[in-house]
Amino acid sequence: MKKLNNWEKETLNLIENVIDKNGYKATSQRREILYIFIKHNQKHLSAEEVYEYVKQEGIGLATVYRNIKIFVDLDILKEIRVDDTNYYELKMYGKKPLHIHFQCENCGCIEDILDQDIILEYLRINRLIEDKQSCEIFDMDIMFHGLCKDCIKE
Ligand SMILES: [Zn+2]
Ligand SMILES: [Zn+2]
Repeated sequence: MKKLNNWEKETLNLIENVIDKNGYKATSQRREILYIFIKHNQKHLSAEEVYEYVKQEGIGLATVYRNIKIFVDLDILKEIRVDDTNYYELKMYGKKPLHIHFQCENCGCIEDILDQDIILEYLRINRLIEDKQSCEIFDMDIMFHGLCKDCIKE
């Protein structure tokens, strides 16, 4: 594993504790896979993309799939399904806890909407839904589709 900065080290430790508490072992393979998500925490990665990063460490694609599934079950990773591909990102341990996604129909890029005003507006809607439906919301999955700012210019 490459050198970790402080935030990366702390995040990895936190996640290792979660793995441990749930009766799993934080094996070196799991740490390598988690490290990729921590290192690329601004991105949404498919299992194949993670595999491309870890294959030189001798980690196979099946291992990547198996461990990603465990991480999703443990709420460490969030799964985002687009067309036929699943993408993953760190859930609460990432630097961007709550956000909405936008996908460009032209270039396929997935962007995080992290704007503070939009997040506040979202939280307002969240509360409204809880009130009107008398329910409790734990998570959300919102994907907007359209053209990104680069593609709109073309
Ligand atoms: Zn685009
Ligand atoms: Zn995201």
